[in-house]
Amino acid sequence: MNLHEYQGKEILNSFGVEIQRGIVATTPAEAVLAAKKLTEDTGTGWHVIKAQVHAGGRGKGGGVKLAKNLEQVEQIADDIIGMMLITPQTSAEGKKVNQILVAEDVYYPGDSEPEEYYISVLLNRGTGKNMIMYSTEGGMDIETVAEETPHLIFTEEIDPAVGLLGFQARKIAFNLGLSGKAFKQMTKFVSALYKAYLNSDSSMFEINPVLKTSDDRIIAVDAKVSIDDNALFRHPDYVAMRDLREENAIEVEASEVGLNYVDLDGNVGCMVNGAGLAMATMDLIKQAGGEPANFLDVGGTADAERVELAFKLILRDPNVKAILINIFGGIVRCDRVAQGIVDAYKNMGTIKVPIIVRLQGTNADIAKELIDNSGLDVQSAVEFKEAADKVQKVLA
Ligand code: GDP
Ligand code: MN
Repeated sequence: MNLHEYQGKEILNSFGVEIQRGIVATTPAEAVLAAKKLTEDTGTGWHVIKAQVHAGGRGKGGGVKLAKNLEQVEQIADDIIGMMLITPQTSAEGKKVNQILVAEDVYYPGDSEPEEYYISVLLNRGTGKNMIMYSTEGGMDIETVAEETPHLIFTEEIDPAVGLLGFQARKIAFNLGLSGKAFKQMTKFVSALYKAYLNSDSSMFEINPVLKTSDDRIIAVDAKVSIDDNALFRHPDYVAMRDLREENAIEVEASEVGLNYVDLDGNVGCMVNGAGLAMATMDLIKQAGGEPANFLDVGGTADAERVELAFKLILRDPNVKAILINIFGGIVRCDRVAQGIVDAYKNMGTIKVPIIVRLQGTNADIAKELIDNSGLDVQSAVEFKEAADKVQKVLA
């Protein structure tokens, strides 16, 4: 589950990570109140207004702006709230901005050398260890750094048995070129950050930039936080942070009816039972020259009701030009699934895209007969390859 910047910062701060403070607002009037409150609390008269959407690169897209007085706060808030923010990480239409973060300006006026670093914490699946990635080249162009000068990004792996050790935090601060008070602050920052990562059951933290001010404070200016979905049951307070407006509408609907659906870019809708078979099906579609429009595991009970739900989800994606149903009848009998497909099809009236069905396993022969004699625009296939080739044919 991805979080907004302001929510991520809240979590970081609850574990003692120093953050750029801010207050969330949904109207220009709220933004002005927030700015006044921040001035009382921090003394700063300047504020940054930051669009809260689940996408990075907001600065480049005009979603992060500096306001030097309350009139500007109101004006910028008015401009940003409700806009379609287009960044290198959004689609071409962009993302609607429902709320903004009014934050204290931490880049002091006259501070000639604010340093921006990059720090992320994530799991290295190859080694089975968490790692901290970091660079002196933080800021808005970190993607270019990763592509053109990857040697400027360092990695520190953490042994899960002993956790982050003191010397590792010091090594990071040293490699970031720090000394004196800033060095100490950075080791504290890194330790608190790692503690926050572990205890929040996160799968990724990306703090870019981490700022060093001229008076040697180390501050998280941005926060991209993803919580591991499988651990959410332990964190009801984080579950409450979920913003469904930011998520794929079809995926949200699928999870509500207990179907495992992931939206993809292709045009072949897939309905499969079992995650492994679903992945193999997607591979086969690609091999036959097609592109899967989705991953969909309908699970063990592929009855008419579930098949109908699955049809409806798949057909909500306007890119879908054909549907491939690939079911292995192990516990569930193929003829029952076939009957389910026929019933669901009839129930839905007309389905405009061609459907190719492959049923294998118990009673596959009866199932094939059922499909072939149904009078519906559904083609059956016996072999895996045959099914994928038929899909290609209807698309051609
Ligand atoms: P992102 O573009 O989505 O990653 O959004 P960030 O939160 O990282 O902000 C983008 C950029 O805005 C940062 O890299 C900073 O250079 C700048 N920025 C953020 N906070 C402040 C601030 O308090 N003052 C000033 N002057 N610039 C800021
Ligand atoms: Mn950033």
